[in-house]
Amino acid sequence: MVIGAGVIGAALAAQLGGGGRGGGADGGGGTGRRVEVWLLDRGAPGAGTTANSMAWINAHSKTPRHYHELAVSGMRAHAALARNTGPAAYAGAGVRGSGRGWYRPGGALRWASGGPGLDQLRQTVARLREWGYAAEWIPVPRARELEPALRIDAGARVAYFRDEAAVDPEPFVAHLLAAARAGGVHVRTGAEARVVGIDTAGGRVRGVRCAGGETVPADVAVCCAGWRTPAVAALAGAYVPLVPGDAPGSEAPTLLAHLRPDAGGGPPLTRMVLTPRLHARPLAGGRVYLEALDLNDEVDRHTPADRVAALARELHARAHDMLPAVASSAQLVGGRVCTRPLPPDDNSIVGPHAEVEGLYTVVTHSGMTLSLRLGKLVARELLTGRETPELAPYRPDRFVR
Ligand SMILES: Cc1cc2nc3c(=O)[nH]c(=O)nc-3n(C[C@H](O)[C@H](O)[C@H](O)COP(=O)(O)OP(=O)(O)OC[C@H]3O[C@@H](n4cnc5c(N)ncnc54)[C@H](O)[C@@H]3O)c2cc1C
Repeated sequence: MVIGAGVIGAALAAQLGGGGRGGGADGGGGTGRRVEVWLLDRGAPGAGTTANSMAWINAHSKTPRHYHELAVSGMRAHAALARNTGPAAYAGAGVRGSGRGWYRPGGALRWASGGPGLDQLRQTVARLREWGYAAEWIPVPRARELEPALRIDAGARVAYFRDEAAVDPEPFVAHLLAAARAGGVHVRTGAEARVVGIDTAGGRVRGVRCAGGETVPADVAVCCAGWRTPAVAALAGAYVPLVPGDAPGSEAPTLLAHLRPDAGGGPPLTRMVLTPRLHARPLAGGRVYLEALDLNDEVDRHTPADRVAALARELHARAHDMLPAVASSAQLVGGRVCTRPLPPDDNSIVGPHAEVEGLYTVVTHSGMTLSLRLGKLVARELLTGRETPELAPYRPDRFVR
């Protein structure tokens, strides 16, 4: 039983369907063991945090080293899935595919013009190069050639991370769900599928109760409920600490906005771009996603709508500086606050709970990057009963209630 059909639950269900053979999710080898799998979500699949994610596929700021390596494996899993899927996997008008897929390779550009932003970028590039990651300094004219839509200060130092990518959440989750269904997974979504109880007896999971009144028998329940995971795990008496998404001043909520350019607004943005004042990436239909780390500090889940709208306008203003032709012809749409599942030490929380046999949690920030890799490792662990060393640093019991 997988609770939550965001990117994490969907990736896991795709792996569990067909006994961990991947069910088309990544074509990786599995156990071949058949189990009956249910995937439940209180809303539409992928409509939670996943839908609003910047979905930059990277291992840029992941520390310590083991977490970096996990993220690099996640990046490789995305590239492999796109390769194995073929043209249908690729998003964006271009040479590779239909444009209606989810995967946007092409790397990421990040620059800074001085001050602490440049110091931080230098440190990041040095660390990543030492760890064997593709991180290089490129001249400003080369960056302009790669991304003609951008206005880059002549004095900026630009770093290029060529193996990084982005995914479009909606078609990506749709692909994972199709793979899960093809593997025999039963998918239930909507208000009636909201999990309101996890039944236990004799210290182990027996079933899951839904708001619609149905109880689905289960000997394993995997909590993939994103920022609501602590509440779902608590239904069985287990402890999962996340930075509380609902608390005033919480750092888990973030601000984002979309721009919808008019036709003829100059060259489109084609890859991830990160500057000290703005992060931007292309979305389907020529849209552009905007986020700024410093503005995230200004919002929580209680921020009034007019303040959110004003901050979204500030994102648009910053886009005028960075992407002048795109931003000046674009409408601002969808300024909103969205909550990240944020473990207190920033690393994933993955594994069984000693309190209740059969109860398991998978919750993480950077879930877009990690989804395919975690889905594969967790499915293997659940289907074989053997612990996966790669997951050892992420066990829930590292936190004490
Ligand atoms: C603004 C923003 C930018 C981000 N940028 C990046 C990035 O660039 N790269 C990256 O890798 N990651 C990024 N992330 C993080 C990433 O998006 C998340 O880690 C990921 O989407 C989490 O997926 P999830 O499946 O755990 O959660 P969700 O997508 O929230 O899915 C959880 C699901 O559980 C369901 N659920 C909850 N409670 C119940 C219940 N009781 N019963 C049934 N169903 C339930 C919900 O309806 C939901 O669909 C970003 C996040 C945000 C908010």
